Amino acid sequence: MTTDLLDLESLLTDEERAVRARVRALVDREIRPHIADWFERAHFPRELVPKLAAEGLLGMHITGYGCAGRSSVEYGIAMQELEAGDSGIRTFVSVQGSLAMSAVAKHGSEEQKQAWLPRMAAGEAIGCFGLTEPNAGSDPGAMQTFARRDGDDWVIDGAKRWIGLASIADVAVIWAQTEEGVRGFLVETSTPGFTATPIEPKLSMRASIQCDIALEGVRVPESARLPEARGLRAPFECLNEARFGIAWGALGAGRDALETALAYAGEREVFGRPLAGMQLTQARLAEMALSLQQAQLLALHLGRRKDAGGLRPHEISMGKLASCRTAIDICREARAILGGNGVSLEHSPMRHAANLESVRTYEGTDEVHTLVIGQALTGLAAFRG
Ligand SMILES: Cc1cc2nc3c(=O)[nH]c(=O)nc-3n(C[C@H](O)[C@H](O)[C@H](O)COP(=O)(O)OP(=O)(O)OC[C@H]3O[C@@H](n4cnc5c(N)ncnc54)[C@H](O)[C@@H]3O)c2cc1C
Repeated sequence: MTTDLLDLESLLTDEERAVRARVRALVDREIRPHIADWFERAHFPRELVPKLAAEGLLGMHITGYGCAGRSSVEYGIAMQELEAGDSGIRTFVSVQGSLAMSAVAKHGSEEQKQAWLPRMAAGEAIGCFGLTEPNAGSDPGAMQTFARRDGDDWVIDGAKRWIGLASIADVAVIWAQTEEGVRGFLVETSTPGFTATPIEPKLSMRASIQCDIALEGVRVPESARLPEARGLRAPFECLNEARFGIAWGALGAGRDALETALAYAGEREVFGRPLAGMQLTQARLAEMALSLQQAQLLALHLGRRKDAGGLRPHEISMGKLASCRTAIDICREARAILGGNGVSLEHSPMRHAANLESVRTYEGTDEVHTLVIGQALTGLAAFRG
């Protein structure tokens, strides 16, 4: 049974459909059979990393340095398929590719690109992206982590919070204040003074890792600084890549929840008739399909604009906000259609809904993206009141 009532498929090229088929097969083979167990055990399946790498999914939108050089739409399609499996697995690919690898690709020196990107694309090295701090999330300008020059070195002190993959990462992109403004550093996680501690227990994103990072007198050479990163604009450019991926990805979770609800309602009998034949159920399913397809159309529009080179930050905010909101509503409705069975891990909607609480929070909360859109409409920034 298809949920693509508008035949959005017809808007895709053959190559885009091929990407979708390959990633969908990977999700069916490698993720679906195990995800409930990983989620229950709060286990990040490291053994998946080489398989995701072999499919060209790590830094797939980056060209050269062993990366796949795929289009924005192909990247988005892949994120949607991965997140139909689980947001935590898509988050791994986003942190590795859109955040850590993008930081190197956009702001790194040639030596840094050669040193890290091929290994990261192959899944041989894992990266993380440390921007958020215990007291600075939506407002990263309030960050307190500080890097001071000491001869030819930099010494970094501070703390980061909620940093994906940090405890298994080989390299951390650390954003810090300096005398010259915000700068980015590639910190090898074996450097003395760097500690990453997983945040546990979590009610969301259980099949992925997020950590507290402590930075205590972490000494790195000048060659570890990202030379092209100046000011907060630098991490924001990386965040925009990840936000674009979320605008597509979250809808994968929504689609999977809708498909689950459709299948369940088709088989479940209530009051002697199939649940799917009840008007109230159809009203729910129709609303879910309508909002899903509207958001999918928006994501595709943004992808085409990104590939054409014209996508602006507030458009990405519109996509991220719309997709997260749509997906979480669909997952909650799907959970309700499954009745009591909806709270069992045997079915995906409530797991997706729990994950999406994180997705709507990271990479800019709903409120932050609402304010970005408000600023684009009015010309007035209302972030400070
Ligand atoms: C699972 C997960 C993974 C993450 N991964 C990473 C990562 O890899 N790297 C990284 O650097 N960070 C990561 N984060 C952190 C994430 O980006 C932050 O949690 C997010 O930016 C929000 O910051 P905060 O938690 O400090 O909340 P706050 O900024 O304290 O916000 C609290 C509330 O205030 C609201 N608010 C904020 N400003 C305004 C305003 N101007 N007007 C009205 N309301 C406002 C927010 O919307 C929110 O509802 C992750 C978070 C999670 C949960």
